[in-house]
Amino acid sequence: MTFDEAVAFALPIATELRHEMHRNPELSGKEEQTARRIQAILEAHGIAVVSGLGGMHGLMCTIDGLPGGSCWGIRADMDALPIQEVSDAPYVSQVPNVMHACGHDGHSATLVGVALTLNQLRDQFAGRVRCLFQPAEETVSGAVSVIAGGGIDGVDAIVMSHGWPDLPIGAIGLKHGPAMASSDTFEVTITGHGAHAAYPHLAKDPILAAASMVVELQQLVSRNVSPVDSAVISVTMFNAGTARNIIPDTATIAGTLRTLKHDTRSYLMTRIDAVLQAIGSAHGVDVRVHWKIGTPPVVNNNAVINHIAGHVSSPAVGGTVTWLDEPTMGAEDFAHYLEHVPGAMLRLGTDCPYHLHTPGYDFGDDALAYGIRLLATIGMSPLPIFDKV
Ligand SMILES: [Zn+2]
Ligand SMILES: [Zn+2]
Repeated sequence: MTFDEAVAFALPIATELRHEMHRNPELSGKEEQTARRIQAILEAHGIAVVSGLGGMHGLMCTIDGLPGGSCWGIRADMDALPIQEVSDAPYVSQVPNVMHACGHDGHSATLVGVALTLNQLRDQFAGRVRCLFQPAEETVSGAVSVIAGGGIDGVDAIVMSHGWPDLPIGAIGLKHGPAMASSDTFEVTITGHGAHAAYPHLAKDPILAAASMVVELQQLVSRNVSPVDSAVISVTMFNAGTARNIIPDTATIAGTLRTLKHDTRSYLMTRIDAVLQAIGSAHGVDVRVHWKIGTPPVVNNNAVINHIAGHVSSPAVGGTVTWLDEPTMGAEDFAHYLEHVPGAMLRLGTDCPYHLHTPGYDFGDDALAYGIRLLATIGMSPLPIFDKV
């Protein structure tokens, strides 16, 4: 069996699965039928599947090659988004207000294609490939469940591919180092005490304190983060008061912090806490900061990126590398895996006129072959040599 023959066998199955997933999208944490369908296809081809990883709908299977070698992990996500699809594709979503607007149908189908391809080539590579089908990426809770379920036990390096509408078919977008931002949210409760609006000197005004906090948080970015690094603090909620002539007892503000480096993230979290407390004490109000810890930044391992780049234009893949100049401030919970093992995310051109997370986005069929070929090739390859940091 040649590599091309194995891909030719897997591709129609992957294409059909993508259409089926696109027709029947399931929201984050509810991917029960999707997982069941993927498991059935893999098991029908003799691949053992572990389901229910970490108490959610995640799946994993391991394709064993020849003895020796190492273990690549490849991760795909399975969940859809609460958006009404606008499309005339024959496989348009049959579920009102739910669609695969982030292309996770394409990611899962690609990974099924990779597993079926590698399963036929077991005698042609050394080592193992762990295929991870992750739930709940959009709510950033799925990666943790897969890791808790043993998904990356024994994995030496991990990769993922995300469909990217701005890149043409066959283009593989790569970036060294920071690729996507961390995402954490905060909620601040400011408690003073209220008074008649005409007698503000009798109050400890939580609204004025909160307004000062909103302004000061922006100055924190401009004077605490290097101009050539990046961070975003956006205050997105500000709630207080019940009447026009009453200074209230409490105010709340909430927002998000995004950074591209682990150090910047932890430093800014500490600084935000300190600055808010200082403003609170200047205003004589009590300040409680509650953090909801989200995802770390996606920081690609440079050795893995170079390794992928070396395979993109090989005859087995036939793609072209597009080097990406800039990271994005969006987040991706793939970052959790990278806290445990080296790895990288790559962007797979889907050449779609519509952006991710919009009603017209469609992963399409044309990128599938490139994704399967590239990820299967990486799975069969020996690990790169990692720099000792
Ligand atoms: Zn998304
Ligand atoms: Zn996505």
